[in-house]
Amino acid sequence: MKRSCALLLFLCLLLSGCKAQTAEAQGFAFDTILTVRLFGGGEALAQEALSLADAAERRLSCHLDGTEIAALNAGGEVTLSASTADLLALSLDVYDKSGGALDIGLGGVSALWDFKSVPPALPDEDALEEALSHAGADKLALDGARAHLTDPQAQIDLGAVAKGALADEMAAFLTEEGVSSFLLDLGGCICVRGGKDGAPFRIGVEDPRDGGILGVVSLQSGVASTSSGAQRGFTLDGKRYHHILDPSTGYPAEAGLLSVTVFSDSGALADALSTACFVLGEEGAAELLALYPGTSALLLTDKGETRIIGEVAFTPST
Ligand code: AMP
Ligand code: MG
Repeated sequence: MKRSCALLLFLCLLLSGCKAQTAEAQGFAFDTILTVRLFGGGEALAQEALSLADAAERRLSCHLDGTEIAALNAGGEVTLSASTADLLALSLDVYDKSGGALDIGLGGVSALWDFKSVPPALPDEDALEEALSHAGADKLALDGARAHLTDPQAQIDLGAVAKGALADEMAAFLTEEGVSSFLLDLGGCICVRGGKDGAPFRIGVEDPRDGGILGVVSLQSGVASTSSGAQRGFTLDGKRYHHILDPSTGYPAEAGLLSVTVFSDSGALADALSTACFVLGEEGAAELLALYPGTSALLLTDKGETRIIGEVAFTPST
């Protein structure tokens, strides 16, 4: 299993007698292994929830033909589905409030980085500079469900928010179907509802330095989204290059953080904020989260210190 899929948050299920019957479905979308685990629901429902991932990818991916985002990137005016329009609106809000640290208009730049290339290679500097001059979510004009790009060379990439949005869609579906206790593991984005067997879920947060567990977070219901330089990247000439880019340079963000986990009731918001906070660093992260009531975060600094913003029920590993 790829490390990017194994990822950062994984569940330490409470060993409380396994009272609830568990149904599980596993699949692959957004370049990640996805797991749907229901406590008290059937396999068919778990599969149905999982099938939402394919549908979301066929709507939101900038890498596949025929998606809403591919149409937007191709130019012209596009009528979006309501959920895609909502996700773009939220992304623009976080873009504004984060001073552009979360930038879904960075697609042309991120396309130049190939984190799977063997041997590892940096993008061409001139091409990067050119792509950067057309980057920016401010080039996305959104009016309700109608959208277009004001710069024909701008490109939208929803990689930083799509899995969180998918978590919200799956959770809404399962709740509507009457499932009150479940866990969704979408690779770096964990969504839980209703606790398990009467107690909060215990979520292990990975230590990106060694793959061990940094500590455990207790969460009854909500989403935990992690952004970390360890998730995807390569090392070249002794330097680590990872997939979370600083929109002001086009190069991997270096803001003194090794990982950020953001907690929120909204998956899309948690996902957007975790990326933004990683780019902003500790101080900027605290300022950004203060603008979004109900959010909190666990940070690991490059000095190996953990920091908590807001309220997080975190127990460090001893
Ligand atoms: P995440 O793992 O949620 O932090 O998202 C990282 C992904 O979002 C990357 O793989 C890129 O596709 C994209 N991305 C990288 N840097 C940024 C950024 N500063 N703002 C928005 N999207 C980004
Ligand atoms: Mg994100």
